Amino acid sequence: MKWFYIMLCAMFLLGCSSEAGTETEKAGGKGSTPQDEGTEKKSRNDDKEVDSKEEQAENKEENEIEKAQAKPEYKMNEMYALEPIADANPQVVLLTIDDAPDKYALDMAHILKKLEAPAIFFVNGHFINTPEKEKMLKEIYDLGFVIGNHTYSHSDLTTLPEEKQLEEIVSVNDIVEKVTGERPKFFRAPFGKNTDKSKEIAAQEGMVLMNWTYGYDWESQYKTGDAISDIMVNTPYLQNGANLLMHDREWTRDGLEKMVQGLREKGYDMADPNLIAIE
Ligand SMILES: [Zn+2]
Repeated sequence: MKWFYIMLCAMFLLGCSSEAGTETEKAGGKGSTPQDEGTEKKSRNDDKEVDSKEEQAENKEENEIEKAQAKPEYKMNEMYALEPIADANPQVVLLTIDDAPDKYALDMAHILKKLEAPAIFFVNGHFINTPEKEKMLKEIYDLGFVIGNHTYSHSDLTTLPEEKQLEEIVSVNDIVEKVTGERPKFFRAPFGKNTDKSKEIAAQEGMVLMNWTYGYDWESQYKTGDAISDIMVNTPYLQNGANLLMHDREWTRDGLEKMVQGLREKGYDMADPNLIAIE
């Protein structure tokens, strides 16, 4: 009887270790681009319905492993510009849209999706306070965009006590995770004004800080679609790795397509935020 149990244990252990081995290899040896990942997910979804909850959980875990292991191609320097790691294309810009999802973010997401231009939407919790707005956030996320944390109420963090700063930041990660299943990896302080405490909280939450290199859509002379797309493309600040700040605004939406086209005509590609190293 004793031997029977020992054999049983040995068989169980063997089974576990070989399964773990396959899984690691599958996840590690893939080298898949985000596009590949999309196709893969789709074909996986097309497969006949999964048999059990355990299998679903396993698939989810696998997807998460793949996502976590997407090899970073860019790092952010101290000026918040992107620098290529190894041989990634240096002539890229990063698109970011703040104060979302208010009135125009979803439109902007659809425009960018049509243009196949990736971006980060930095969201404020106070805009995600109804089921409709939650749905809007989910839709932006499902279109493939990265969701960043821009605090709950868009207050100047330097004027808030530490406890309040914690609430402003962590509550947004909780909301975004509840709606999308994923916690933000990028944090942008309102007005770009961080405190020692907000830096500490971001680090605890596993987020990297991100300001920007240029933006114009809050200045009165650029509040038309033509004016904003023109300055975003023709500013002397446009250079490799530039981090472009935009907002959920009507004129920015109106100028978005022309802006992306103008950047591409100048030879710039839009960087995929999923490929930025999180350190
Ligand atoms: Zn803002």
